[in-house]
Amino acid sequence: MTQTKIQRHLQERSAVLDQEKTIRHDHAFKTNMSATAQTAAKIVARIRQRESEIFWTTPEGSHSEAKHPVVFPGMSFAISRDRMQKTSLWRIVSAMPKGCLLHAHMEAMIDIDWMLDQALQIPGFWVSSPASLMLGASTNPPAFEFHYRPNRPVAEATASIWEADYPPNELIPIAEVARTHPSGVLGFKSWAISQMTITEDEALYHHHRGIVDIWKKFASCFRGIAGLFYSEPIFRRCVPRLLQQLHSDGIKYVELRLVPRPFHRTGSDTPELDTHYFLECFSQELQRYCSSADGSGFWGARLIWTAIRSLPDDLLRASMQDCLSSKAAYPAVIAGFDFVGQEDLGRPLVELLPLCDWFQQECTQRNLQIPFFFHAGECLGDGDATDANLVDAILLKSRRIGHAFSLYKHPMLIEMVKGQKILIEMCPISHEVLRLTANILTHPMPALQARGVAVSLNNDDPAILGHGGNGLSYDFYQVLLAFENTGLGGLAKMAEDSVRWAAFEDEDETAWLEGIEGRLDSNIFTIAMDRYLIRMSFLLHQHLFDAFDRLPRDFVAPSLYLLDHFSVLSTMEEFRVMATANRAGGHAAILRAHAEPLLYDEIFWIWRKPHSPPIPLLLRTILRRPQLAAHIKSFHLDMTAFHEYHPDVGRYIIHDHPSVDELDEHIAFIRRTGVPHRRSWIRKLRQGTTDAFLALLLAQLSSLRSLHISGVVTRHSNLVGLTLVSAICESGRYQLPNFQHLREVNSHFMPRSNRRKAGREPRKSLPWHATNILPFFYLPDLECLSVSLGSPIMWLSPHLPASSKLRSLDLGHVHEADLGEILSVTPNLETLHWYWYYPTDVVDGVQTSTLDRGQLVAALLQVRNTLRELTIEAVALLPGARQFPRSLLFKDTLQKLVHFDKLVALECPLVLLVGLEFDDVQRFREPVPRNIEILRLADDVWCPDDGIPTQGLLREPSDILRTLCAWLQASDWRTQTPHLRRIELWQSRSSPAYREDLGQQLTYLGARVGVQIEYRRNS
Ligand SMILES: [Zn+2]
Repeated sequence: MTQTKIQRHLQERSAVLDQEKTIRHDHAFKTNMSATAQTAAKIVARIRQRESEIFWTTPEGSHSEAKHPVVFPGMSFAISRDRMQKTSLWRIVSAMPKGCLLHAHMEAMIDIDWMLDQALQIPGFWVSSPASLMLGASTNPPAFEFHYRPNRPVAEATASIWEADYPPNELIPIAEVARTHPSGVLGFKSWAISQMTITEDEALYHHHRGIVDIWKKFASCFRGIAGLFYSEPIFRRCVPRLLQQLHSDGIKYVELRLVPRPFHRTGSDTPELDTHYFLECFSQELQRYCSSADGSGFWGARLIWTAIRSLPDDLLRASMQDCLSSKAAYPAVIAGFDFVGQEDLGRPLVELLPLCDWFQQECTQRNLQIPFFFHAGECLGDGDATDANLVDAILLKSRRIGHAFSLYKHPMLIEMVKGQKILIEMCPISHEVLRLTANILTHPMPALQARGVAVSLNNDDPAILGHGGNGLSYDFYQVLLAFENTGLGGLAKMAEDSVRWAAFEDEDETAWLEGIEGRLDSNIFTIAMDRYLIRMSFLLHQHLFDAFDRLPRDFVAPSLYLLDHFSVLSTMEEFRVMATANRAGGHAAILRAHAEPLLYDEIFWIWRKPHSPPIPLLLRTILRRPQLAAHIKSFHLDMTAFHEYHPDVGRYIIHDHPSVDELDEHIAFIRRTGVPHRRSWIRKLRQGTTDAFLALLLAQLSSLRSLHISGVVTRHSNLVGLTLVSAICESGRYQLPNFQHLREVNSHFMPRSNRRKAGREPRKSLPWHATNILPFFYLPDLECLSVSLGSPIMWLSPHLPASSKLRSLDLGHVHEADLGEILSVTPNLETLHWYWYYPTDVVDGVQTSTLDRGQLVAALLQVRNTLRELTIEAVALLPGARQFPRSLLFKDTLQKLVHFDKLVALECPLVLLVGLEFDDVQRFREPVPRNIEILRLADDVWCPDDGIPTQGLLREPSDILRTLCAWLQASDWRTQTPHLRRIELWQSRSSPAYREDLGQQLTYLGARVGVQIEYRRNS
C-alpha cells in the first residue's frame, strides 16, 4: 500500500468506528459528560489498562501454576473475587453511586451464616428431613428444612438427625442438630452453608454439567432458607441489615422480588393465613430504617410479587389472588408481578397467557396498578420455548425484562425492546455462576449495548451465588474490567438508567413512559453522580500527578495539595455548574457545602517525593477555616523519603515553612494545650521537624476514625507519641481532642502489604517507643490496631485498659513473655498477627535468639475463646546470609494450639509448628486445631541447603510435601480436622523450589480429598 492509501484506510477506519459508536445506548450520555467527567473517565481507562497488564496478567515465561497462578482480565468471578478488591479500580467502583437495584431476590440476599446464627440465638427453631442426614449417606442435595415452632415442647431425649435410626420428618431442635453434628456447631454451620449456597467448587469446576444440574442445587437452597427467612423474628432483623448493606455500596433504592410463603408471627406455631402481616412487618421495618440515621438519604424499597412458574394453574391463580388483595391493602409496597424459577423446566409464558390476561382484567376492575416485570430469555437455547419467552414478555408489555440473555440473537425483538422503552436487567455474575457463560468475556451484554438497548446491572441472588457482599460493586467491576467500550461513562449511564426505569410509585402506561425520560430532572441522583465525579476527578488528578507511573496499585488521594498549589479555580467553577445545573439560582456555596465533606473526609498521602508532605499547607487551610478539620475522618501518611534526614537535629525537616504569622498562631495553639512537653514541641516546630508538624496536625483532628502512619516518619516521632499520651490517657486535662472516635490505628515502619513483599522489617526498625503506642489500648471503641510496640509493657495509668471492642490486633516487636500482658486486656480479640523478627546482627533487648513457644501459647490462651485467625510470622534470615542462624533456639512446642476450638485460620512458619523434622507426621498434626479451615505454612525461618551438612536441620524442603501427603492419606485426618479446606505453602524468595512431581502429587491428592493446595511465593 502506498502512504496515501494507508492514510485513507485509517481515516475510513476511524470514521466507521466512530459512526458505529453513535448507535450505542450510552453514546449521548458519554458525549454530554462535562470536561471534568470526561477526564475522570479517561484516567479510569488508563488505570484499567494498567491494571489489566500488571495485575491481571501472568508474567511472561512462567508456566508453573505453583509460582504464578494464571490470571487474566475477566477471569471467572469465583477466583477473581478476592483479588479484585486489591485494585485501584475496585476502590473507584465501590465508591461509585449506583442508582437503583432493580433485579434481586430478597430471600437470596441474606447471608446464610448470619441467618443460622439468628436461628441458633432465637428460641423456637427446629430442623427436619425426610431421611437421616447421616453424612455421606443422605440424598444429594439433602431435603432438610427449618421450622419455627416456638411453643413445641422439647422432648428429653431426641433422636439424632445424623444417625441412621432418625425417624423421617421428626422435628429436632436446631441447637441439638448443631450440637450432635460430628464436628460440633461450627461443623454444622459450615455443612448447612455448603448445602444452602453454590460453593466455589460448584461455581467453577462443573461447567460441563450444564444448567439443569446447577439449578437443582440452586433451587434446593431456597427450601432451606424458607424456614428461617419467613419467621417474624428473623425477617425483621433481615430488612434493615439488607438495606444498610445496599445503601453503603452506593445504592439508593431497591425493588426486591419475593415469593411469599407461609409466614410465622413471633410466638406462633401456625403460619398466617395470608400475606398481609408479612407486608406489614416489611413496611414497618422499611420505614424505621429510612427514618434512622443510617437510612438518611436512602430513597426506599418496593417488592415485586413473584410466583413459581412451574406450578399448576390453580396454585398460580391463588398466588395471583393473594397478590391482588395484598396490593389493595399495601399499594405502596407492591410494585409489580413476575414469574420465577428455572425457565427451561418451568412453564413458558405462552402457556400462562390466559392467567396473565385474567390478572390484567382483575387489575383494571379493581383499579390496581400491578405491571409485569418478567424474567425472560435466561437460557442458552435458540428458537426453543424458553427463548420465545422474550417475544411474549414484550407483547405482554413487561416494563423491564430480567436477564434476556438470549435477546442478542433476535434483531427484531431488539428493535421492539428499544421502541417500547424496555430496560434489560442484566445479572452478569449470576449468569456466570449459573452456567450461562463461562466468564464475563463471553457474555452477550456488549452486543445489546452496542445495538442501543438500555441495560442496568444487578446482583440477582448474591447470598447464594457467592458474591461475598450484597452491593453491586462486584458486577460493576466485572463489566468495567472486561469491556473496553463501557468505561466510567458507561457505568454511570447504567446507574442513571436504573433510576429512570425504577418503579418508585404506581404509574399508568403513559406516565411510566414519560417518566423514563423525565424522571431525572428533579432528581437528586444527578447531583449524587456529579459529586462522585467531582471527587473522582480530584482523586484521580492526584493519582496521575503523584504516583501513577511509579505506584500503579496505590491509590493516592486528596486533593488539598492541589487546592492550594495549582490553580483549580476554573475546575471549581465547572463543578459549580455541574452540581447546580438542575437547580435554578445555584450558588458556589451550595457546592462547597456538598463537596467539602467529600473532599476532606480522607487524607491519603503515600509520599515518595524527595521533599516533605504538605502538612503545613493543610495546617494553613485549617487555620483559615477550622471547621474543615471536623470533616477529616481518615488520615493516612506513608512517608518513605530518606533524603531529608538532618543528623544535627535528628529529624526530618519540613520543606515548606509557614510564614511568621502562621508560626505564631501554631505556637499559641501549642501553649494553649498546656501539655507538659510544650516547650520541646515549640522548639522543634521552629526547627521545622516533621514530627512537630505532624503532632500539631493530629491535634486538630477531633473526628478521626482511622489513623495510619508508616515509613520514616515513625522513627523520629516522639512528639506525636507524647501528644497522643496527653490526649488519650489524660483526657480532659489538656486542650486536645480525646480521639474517642478512633476505630482503626495502624503504625509500622513498613506497611503490612510491603512487609510480605520484602520478607522482613529493616534492621533497627523499632519505631515509636512503647509508651507512644500503649495509649491506643485505652480507646474504648477501637476495633483494629496494628503496631510495632517494643517491650517491656508498662501501662500508663493506674487502671488497666479494657479494649473490649478490639477485634483485630497486629503486633510487631513484642516479646512472647510480654504478649500475655497485652492479650489480657483484649478479651474479644478475633484476629491476631504476631510478628517475631530476630535481627541476627542487632541486639535491641526485645527479641532474642530464643523463641519460647510454651510462653507464646500461654499468652495466646488469654484469647482462646474468641480467636478465629492467628498469624505467627517469624523472620530470622538476613539478606546475603545464606546460613541458618544456628544459635536460634525454639523452646517447648505449640502443641497446645490444638485446644483452640474457635481457630479457623492459622498461619505459621513450618519450623515453629513442627520443629525441624518435617517428615514426622505425628508432630505435624499434633498442634493443628480441630476446627481449622485454612492452614498457611511459611518457610520464612528457613535453612537453605548450602552444602554444609548440619545435624538435625532439614536439607530437602520437599520433605514437607511428603509429610502432607502422608497426613492426608492417613485414615483419621478427616475426623481430626473435619473442616480443613485449604493449605497454602508460602515460600520466601530465596527458598529452593519444591520438587514439581511431589507438588503435583500433593495437589491431586488434595483435590481428591477436598483440600485445595496452593503454592505461593513472596514476590
Ligand atoms: Zn432473577
